[in-house]
Amino acid sequence: MSMVKTIEVLFETLFSKPMTVKFPYEAIEIPEDYRGEHELDIDKCVSCGLCAEICPNRAVEMVELPEEYKEKYPKTYPRLDLRKCCFCGLCQDICPRKCLKLTKNVFLATPDPSAVIKNPMPKGPQ
Ligand code: SF4
Ligand code: SF4
Repeated sequence: MSMVKTIEVLFETLFSKPMTVKFPYEAIEIPEDYRGEHELDIDKCVSCGLCAEICPNRAVEMVELPEEYKEKYPKTYPRLDLRKCCFCGLCQDICPRKCLKLTKNVFLATPDPSAVIKNPMPKGPQ
C-alpha cells in the first residue's frame, strides 16, 4: 500500500463511526428471528413433550407446576435449562401449538445460577 493510500485509510478510519458499541450501555440491534431466550405460552401448551424429546442437549424436561397452580395446569410442562441449550431452535420448530418460541433476547449472562433455569409458569402476576 502506498503512503498516500495509507494516510487516506488512516483518516477515513479516524473519522468514521466505530464498528463496536459500548456494551452494556449500548447494544447492537438483534435481527428478527434470532434465536435467544425461550418464551412459553403455557395456556396453549398441550404437554405433548415433543420439545423435550427432540432436544439434542437434554435441555428440556417436562415438569409439574407448583401445587397452587395444579388445578388449572394439571399436566407437565417444559422446563428449560439454558446452560445446556445450544439455541438450535428444534424445540420451537416441532411444537405443534407454536407456543414455545425463541425470542430475540440474547443478553442472558447472569451471576445468578437459578436465572438460567426457566420454569414453566402461568402468565401475569404470580
Ligand atoms: S433450542 Fe435446541 S438445545 Fe435449546 S432447548 Fe430447544 S431443542 Fe434444546
Ligand atoms: S412441544 Fe409445544 S405443546 Fe408440546 S410440550 Fe412442548 S411446548 Fe408444549
